[in-house]
Amino acid sequence: MKTGDQRLTGDQVGTIVKMLGLTTDREFNCGECLQHVGEYAERQLSNKPVSDVIASVEQHLALCPECREEYEALRKILEAGQ
Ligand SMILES: [Zn+2]
Repeated sequence: MKTGDQRLTGDQVGTIVKMLGLTTDREFNCGECLQHVGEYAERQLSNKPVSDVIASVEQHLALCPECREEYEALRKILEAGQ
């Protein structure tokens, strides 16, 4: 098995993230993401189907490390409470 052939360079990743970020920012910003991130975490834990809004949260989390940190912290709290 060959691995490594499809790895992107840091520059390429940065360009892709920037491109996605520009379009995503207009549709869904950090404030909106954080409004729904709790619901997203709960759905992830209970395997509920995701709604359109929740899919946008997922998309934003993939691009935004700050919101992803919030999500992971929240998820830990939820997991601990179960
Ligand atoms: Zn964000």
